[in-house]
Amino acid sequence: MNYQKIFVAGHRGMVGSALIRKLQSSPNPPAEILTRTRDQLDLCDQAAVDDFFATEKPDCVLFAAAKVGGIHANATYPAEFGYENTAMAMNSIHSAYRHQTKRFLFLGSTCIYPRNAPQPIPEDSLLTSPLEQTNEAYALAKIMGLKLCQYYRQQYGVMFHSAMPTNLYGPGDNYHSENSHVIPGLIRRFHDAKLSGAESVTVWGSGNPRREFLHVDDLATGVLHLIQLSDPPDWVNVGTGTDLRIADLAQKIATVVGFQGKILQDTSKPDGTPVKRTNTDLINSTGWTPKIDLDQGLQSTYADFVANQETIR
Ligand code: GDP
Repeated sequence: MNYQKIFVAGHRGMVGSALIRKLQSSPNPPAEILTRTRDQLDLCDQAAVDDFFATEKPDCVLFAAAKVGGIHANATYPAEFGYENTAMAMNSIHSAYRHQTKRFLFLGSTCIYPRNAPQPIPEDSLLTSPLEQTNEAYALAKIMGLKLCQYYRQQYGVMFHSAMPTNLYGPGDNYHSENSHVIPGLIRRFHDAKLSGAESVTVWGSGNPRREFLHVDDLATGVLHLIQLSDPPDWVNVGTGTDLRIADLAQKIATVVGFQGKILQDTSKPDGTPVKRTNTDLINSTGWTPKIDLDQGLQSTYADFVANQETIR
């Protein structure tokens, strides 16, 4: 690793913890991996963030801090999603620049792309038409972070750039039954239904939307790959390029969990964007591809969920 002191912002989250695991097990780990809990450093507090960068002077930042949630949480708390994600990004990017951070990798999400972006979604569809309403606040904050990195690179010549992962899953996810994303939400509900002997599990929406899923350990290898590139794209999709219907995903999860009852649909719940699949040509052309297929990834994720019942969020 050509960095000595890497700050992983958001190290307790699913992405941040995967980055830490990958950094620690890398053949050439950095001399120091810096982390701060929210109690130790509130990334929304501009003065505190600037003090932290002035004192610690990380030479590389992997920015995985975010207020995240599934379709329900995003639609219910847009003020918090907008404010916190914008403030954290803005403060960290500016202080990294002020205190000579050599490399800044900003993480966002493919929900930055327009609701009706061409499928699979190419990077250059950014800002070509309106966003999906259910997660507009989060998307706007992530677009601002991505654009700030691009502007700082353009204006100041610093190597700040971004990665936009597709829907992620894996160990360390949030398994809240309402506020989580679809994979952990369904793992939780199918598991609880299996234990209680319930006859059915209800899946939100029509079951027709299509989504692509990337295991978070694959994202971590992608991020470490990107920070080694001498001329990385300003922002790049990180995904598998393959999608499936939510109804088919639900069936797969039921099988992995061992739930044998009925699967019902609740069409009063939102579907969100109808299709979301990324064009991964750009990152593939730099020499990275994902390694963990969905069936294998769902099995290991469920095993992790079962093994860590006490600490699961
Ligand atoms: P999105 O890609 O931002 O829409 O992320 P989500 O993971 O929250 O939702 C993906 C799709 O799964 C949407 O069409 C949801 O309606 C559907 N879905 C079905 N059941 C669930 C569930 O239990 N939780 C969540 N979050 N979504 C679900």
